[in-house]
Amino acid sequence: MFDDEPLVAPGAQLRLLSQISTWAEGPVWIPATQRLRWSDIKGNRILEWSWDTQETSVYRDGAEFTNGRILAHDGSVLQCSHGRRRVERDTHGVVEPVVDSWQGHRLNSPNDITVSRDGAIWFTDPDYGITQPEEGHPGEQEYGGCNVFRVDPVTGALDPAVTDAVRPNGLAFSPDESILYVADSDEHECVIRAYDVVAGVDGQPTCQNSRVFATPRPGWPDGIRVDEHGNVWSSCGEGLRIYASSGEEIGSVRVPEITANFCFGGPDGSTVFITATSGLYAIETTTHDAHLPRNQRADHGDDEAPAPLR
Ligand code: MG
Repeated sequence: MFDDEPLVAPGAQLRLLSQISTWAEGPVWIPATQRLRWSDIKGNRILEWSWDTQETSVYRDGAEFTNGRILAHDGSVLQCSHGRRRVERDTHGVVEPVVDSWQGHRLNSPNDITVSRDGAIWFTDPDYGITQPEEGHPGEQEYGGCNVFRVDPVTGALDPAVTDAVRPNGLAFSPDESILYVADSDEHECVIRAYDVVAGVDGQPTCQNSRVFATPRPGWPDGIRVDEHGNVWSSCGEGLRIYASSGEEIGSVRVPEITANFCFGGPDGSTVFITATSGLYAIETTTHDAHLPRNQRADHGDDEAPAPLR
């Protein structure tokens, strides 16, 4: 497996941890419990795999078609719900809404989510959960687009940050948060776009200078992450593709199933967990997520300071 790939640990082998999903998505590592939680979207349930017992369990049935999730700064889990057409927060099993509408219009079906260092929630809102009956409840687009939104950490205000992606899906920041990468999984696009994060007219962060960063093939990009070196990792087809910040492809990980998403995790944050159709897989790497909490890193290194907004 890619012996010349320095980002994947020497001799690392892909391990199959679980294979009971229908359509696996939305993985997040939970340090407090040493568990990997993910969505079985079409199975309409949330699953967990335990590092300690190596066993899979059902965390919640009838989960209203959750998709992407991320650990919030307070240790709670932020997750996207197709069925409830909202972003919600799970705190020790208690689920509460975060946001479900913009200017009086319901969201489409939030897909994936991240948190910037100021605590703002950024999420994508394509329409898969209202157009694909196996992944939610049929419905109409109410605001007439598929945006990337930012939720202000102080006021809770919701503002569109990206409006030109056709079906925005995975999203991740560069280490200094000066660039937002967004996977556009629309069948006619299938690209990762990059945006400069700048101060908008109200002084709050927004995105401009949209450009194509990479065109992963075969398949399409879905979940994406940025590692501590600024490399962009993307799910694509049967596996992952890795791009330097220049856009040059520098590595890949092959997976035997169609791969939707992945995340860094494990006790030292260097294990990549991959959700791929029926399976949850893992492989050891030599790097970490650029935005993992410090207590998940082996070196407990300092975060790179966010770049000032331009
Ligand atoms: Mg997705």
